[in-house]
Amino acid sequence: MRHVGLALLFCAVMVVSLNSQEKSMDSPKSNLAPAAAPAIAPPWMKSSNAKLEGTLVAKYGESQRARALRGLHQVAEFWRAEDGDAATYEDFVLANFAGDQATLDTMFNRYQRLLEQLDGHMHEIGREFRQQQDLDLGPVLPFDEAFGGYDPSAHIIDDFFANKLAFTVLLNFPLTTLDERLQQGKNWSRRQWAEVRLAERFSKRIPADVNLAIAQAASDSGQYIAQYNIWMYHLVDQQGQRLFPPKMRLLSHWNLRDEIKSEYAEGQAGLAKQRTVQQVMERIVTQTIPQAVVDNPGVDWNPYTNEVRPAAAQDADPSAVKTGAASNTREPDTRYAMLLKDYLAAKKADPYSPTAPTFIDRRFDEDREIPETRVKAMLEQILTSPLVAQTAKLIETRLGRPLEPFDVWYNGFRPGSKYNEAELNAMVAKKYPTAEAYQRDIPNLLMKLGFTPEKANYVAANIIVDPARGSGHAMGAGMRSEKAHLRTRVEKTGMNYKGFNIAVHEMGHNVEQTFSLNEVDYTLLQGVPNNAFTEALAMLLQGHDLELLGLPAPDAASQAEKTLNDFWGTYEIAGVALVDTGVWHWMYDHPQATPQQFNQATVQIAKEIWNRYYAPVFHQRDVVLLAIYSHMIDSFLYLPDYPIGHMIGFQIEEQMRKAGAIGPEFERMAKMGDVTPDLWMENATGRPVGPEALLEATQRALHQALTTANAK
Ligand SMILES: [Zn+2]
Repeated sequence: MRHVGLALLFCAVMVVSLNSQEKSMDSPKSNLAPAAAPAIAPPWMKSSNAKLEGTLVAKYGESQRARALRGLHQVAEFWRAEDGDAATYEDFVLANFAGDQATLDTMFNRYQRLLEQLDGHMHEIGREFRQQQDLDLGPVLPFDEAFGGYDPSAHIIDDFFANKLAFTVLLNFPLTTLDERLQQGKNWSRRQWAEVRLAERFSKRIPADVNLAIAQAASDSGQYIAQYNIWMYHLVDQQGQRLFPPKMRLLSHWNLRDEIKSEYAEGQAGLAKQRTVQQVMERIVTQTIPQAVVDNPGVDWNPYTNEVRPAAAQDADPSAVKTGAASNTREPDTRYAMLLKDYLAAKKADPYSPTAPTFIDRRFDEDREIPETRVKAMLEQILTSPLVAQTAKLIETRLGRPLEPFDVWYNGFRPGSKYNEAELNAMVAKKYPTAEAYQRDIPNLLMKLGFTPEKANYVAANIIVDPARGSGHAMGAGMRSEKAHLRTRVEKTGMNYKGFNIAVHEMGHNVEQTFSLNEVDYTLLQGVPNNAFTEALAMLLQGHDLELLGLPAPDAASQAEKTLNDFWGTYEIAGVALVDTGVWHWMYDHPQATPQQFNQATVQIAKEIWNRYYAPVFHQRDVVLLAIYSHMIDSFLYLPDYPIGHMIGFQIEEQMRKAGAIGPEFERMAKMGDVTPDLWMENATGRPVGPEALLEATQRALHQALTTANAK
C-alpha cells in the first residue's frame, strides 16, 4: 500500500497496513513506459504467453483479448523460475483467468472482503502488541518492546506471491501508471478505482534481502542522525566567551533550528546566538565541522575559526566525554556517505518495480501521486511569488534590521490570545477531569463543529478514548468491525489545555478515519490519498479548539499572523524540498560518486537554489543552510511532503470557509477515499492540488497585518 511513513512529519497518526516494508520507504511510478520484464523472467515465458493468448480468446471470445494480453504481461513481469515451470504457469493462468463478468465480480468482491479482514486483523494485532508501550499502563518491560517492534504483516507480500494470490490479481486487474491514473482516472467508475488499488498492492515484488538492505540503510542513517548532538556550552567566541548555558545539548537539525526560533524572543540580544547556530549548521552541511566536536562535551570549539581545544569547563557527566585528541580534523564526509548508502539500497529495488523503476519515481508517482514536474512547479509558484518580498519586508520592519540567512526560520508571526495558558488549563481541567469525560463529550464537540446529532453520535460511537503514555496519537481501524482509537494524555489534575488541543487534533484524525473506512463505497478505497490529507483535516478541527471550549474564535488579526507564519514556513521548506529532490537526481546521475564528490555536489545544489529563490530577498549569496535538514539523510526523499501539506491544508480550510460549515463538508470530502490527490481535491474544492489557496490567504493576511500595524 502506498502510505508513506509520514507520521514522523506531522503528528503520530499510526498507520498499520499490508506490506509495511513497502510503505516505509519504497513506493512510486514513472514517465517511462513500463519497463520490459526484468531479466529474471524464465526463457519459456514468451512462447507460453503466445499459446495462452490463443487459448483464452478461443475460450472466452475476442472481447477478452485485450484483458488476456494485459494479464499475461503483468504476470510475466513478476513470475520467477521458483514459481514453477511452463506447465505450472499455463495451468495457473487457465485456472485463474476470470473470462466473464460474473466470475470477475465474485473474485473482486471476495478479495475486497478478505483483504479488509487481513488488513483489519493485522492492524488489530499491531495495536494490541503496542498497547503497553502506547498507553499509560505502568512499566514497559524489555519484552514489551519486542512485541511493539514486531510486524506480523511483514511477509504478506512474499506469501501472496508464493501462494499465487498476488498473481491471480495481476492476471485479472490492471496495473496502471500515474500518467494513466491522472489522465483517465476522472472517467473511471468507483469500482474501476477500487480495482486499480487492488492491483497496486502487488505492483512490486521486492526480494526479502533487498528490503532488508533498505531497512538496514534506514536504520544506520537514522542512528547517525539520532546521535548528532552539539554541546552548546562548549561553543566559544573569539574572546573565549560561552553564549549558551551549561548542559544544553542540541540535536541537528531540529533543536538547532528551534534554538534560532526561540532566540527571537530575546530580540537584539539573541542575535549573536542565532548567528553562531547558523555557523554551526553551515559547518555540518559542508562537513568542515571537526569530528571531535560532534556529541562531545569534552572539547571547546570556535565555529568561526574552527579552533578546537580541550574543554576549559565541564558541564556534563564524564561518561559523555569522548576519548581522543582535541583536534580539528574534519568529519570525513560521513553525512554524505550515509545518504549514498541510502541511495544504493533504495536503488536495489528498481528492477523489481516495473511501473516505477527508480526510487524518485516511487516517491513521487506512487507515494505522492503527483508528478515531480508538477510538484516542482507548485514549489516554484511559492518561491517566486511577489508575496515573498512583501512578507520579508514586514519581517524586516518588525525586526528593525535587514534579514540574515537564518531568518528563513523567523517565528515572530504569532496569533495573540485573550486568555493565558493558566486560565485555559483551569477551564479544560474542570471540563475534562478524566479521559472518560472527554469521551462522553465527543458528540457534543462534533455538533459544535456542524455535524448533525445523528452523525455526531454515529462517529462518537466509533471512537474509543484511551489514556496515552506520550502526548497522544490517533489510530484508525483497519476494518469496519473495529473502532478508531484516540489516545490522549490526562494528568492526575485533569486534562490541560495543551492536551485538549492535541486531543481535538487526534479526534479530527478519528473522524476522518471513521468516514473514510465505514462510509466509503469500496473498502479497497479506504483512507485518504496520503497523510497530508488526514493531517489537514485534523489541523482544521484543532484550529477550532477555542470555540469548542465555548470561547470566541481567533480574531482576524490573529488569523492573519497564523497564515503569515504558515506562508513563511512554506517558503522556507519549499527550497529545502528542492534541494532534497536535486540530490537524489544527482545520485542517480552519478552512481559511482564518492562521499566527497557528493558533498561538493550537495553544497552546489543548495547554493544554486538559495541564489535563485532566496538571495534576492536576503541579499546574500551562496548560503548552504537549505541542506541542513536531517530528513535529507535518513528519510528518503520525504521533505517535499511538507510544503504540499501546507498547500492542501489551505485548500481545505478555504473550502470550509466558503461552505460556512465544517461537518457536512468534512464528511463529503472524507468519503472520497484513496484516489489521486488531484481527484480528491477536485471533488473537495473544485480545483486540483495547488498553492493558490495559500497564496490568496497570504495576500489577505498581509493586507490585514498592514492594516493592524497602521491602526496602532
Ligand atoms: Zn496529526
